[in-house]
Parts: sequence; C-alpha cells; structure tokens
Amino acid sequence: MKAIAIDGPAGAGKSTISRRVAEALGFIYVDTGALYRTVGLKALRSGVAAAESPALRQMLRATQVDIVYRDGEQRVLLDGADVSDEIRTPEASRMASAVSALPMVRAYLLDMQRNLAKTHDVVMDGRDIGTVVLPQATVKIFLTASAEERAARRFAQMREAGTNITYETVLHDMKERDYNDSHRTVAPMTPAKDALIADTTGITLEESVEKILELVRERL
Ligand code: C5P
Repeated sequence: MKAIAIDGPAGAGKSTISRRVAEALGFIYVDTGALYRTVGLKALRSGVAAAESPALRQMLRATQVDIVYRDGEQRVLLDGADVSDEIRTPEASRMASAVSALPMVRAYLLDMQRNLAKTHDVVMDGRDIGTVVLPQATVKIFLTASAEERAARRFAQMREAGTNITYETVLHDMKERDYNDSHRTVAPMTPAKDALIADTTGITLEESVEKILELVRERL
C-alpha cells in the first residue's frame, strides 16, 4: 500500500490539496482532524472536560467513531450518526484541539488511522501523520503558510458557510490552536525529518495543488 502523509497547521490548504491529490492518484483521502473533532463533539455533548480522567476514559469506551465514504466523500459517524457538519463549528474546533492533547484520545484513534492505511492507498492529512501515525509513509509533506493568510482563508470559508465571526476571532483561535498543537507533549505538530516543506503563502490553492502533485508524482 502507498501512503502520502500531509501535515501542517489549520488553513494551510491541507484538506483541499489532499483531496485533490487523492483524486488524481485514485487513493482515498483521510481527514484525521475530523476524528479529533468527533471525539471533541462527544465530550461537548456529554459535558465531559478535556482532561485525562476516569470520566473521559469511560466516555471513550462508550464511543464509536467511524469513517465512511459517500459519493467518494469522507463522512464521520459518531455512535452511528453522521456528524460531519456539526464538527465544523468554532466550539468543536476548540474542543478538538483540547482533546487532541490527551494521550488517551490519541491512543484511542491511532489504530483506526493505521488500519485505513493498511487496507487502502491513502492520502492522509493531520498533524502527526508523518511523525507518528505513518512514519513509513511513501511521501511526507509539511504544508505551511503565514498565520494571517491562513486566518484570511478560513475566515472566507466560514463567511461563505454563513458563520457569523470576525477575522480577529479567527486569527486569535488559529494562533491558539497552532500553539496548543505544537507545544503538547504527545505527538506535537512538527515536520518529520524526511518531510518536504511546502509554504503556500502568496500562492493560490490551485497553484499549490499543482506543485504538490508534481512533488508527489516525482517521489512515487
Ligand atoms: O485539521 P483540523 O483543523 O480539522 O483538526 C482539528 C484539531 O484536531 C487540530 O487543531 C488538532 O488539535 C487536532 N489534530 C491532531 N492530530 C491530527 C489531526 C488533527 O491533533 N492528526
């Protein structure tokens, strides 16, 4: 099986680029952030705090997270119900970042991610795919862009989706998530030693897709 690992902070273009690369290669696209968001949503709904506690352990034991593909698009199921839209709110984003720092949660989601890559050719995006989940990935890419540009892109997406939020809030949330994701002790967001670093600041998503596809094709 072949695996392309695409890591990097929110708003660097990971999901769009990964989806397009997967399409072009005929691989499946796995958005691992959706898994952390789903666990975060469950914690929000259950009123369980993001801490390594017996309550969280018990919650995880009673939680079923699944990835399914509908018309080629990934959907996530929480205890059998499709929550792919609910996990995109600012609250779910914050909770995802909080629960993702917990070793208990990372361990809970690890096998699922690895099993997908055992049975399919994958383009998998996240924060620790090249470093922890799939250290043997065929190609590793670390995508970045300036925080301001990433916030501007995310702001435009959210406005389009009808979310009422200011650019300043988006930028603030993004910086906070970047800080949490790169400073946690378990699986912090950091480029793998053998990752290709791609900075998408100042280039369009379209151009980024072309650039990454070229890099990936060279290495496959
Ligand atoms: O990629 P996305 O923004 O949807 O991810 C939501 C959160 O899940 C991130 O802020 C990060 O804290 C966490 N995450 C992670 N490891 C991954 C993917 C996401 O810790 N592989």
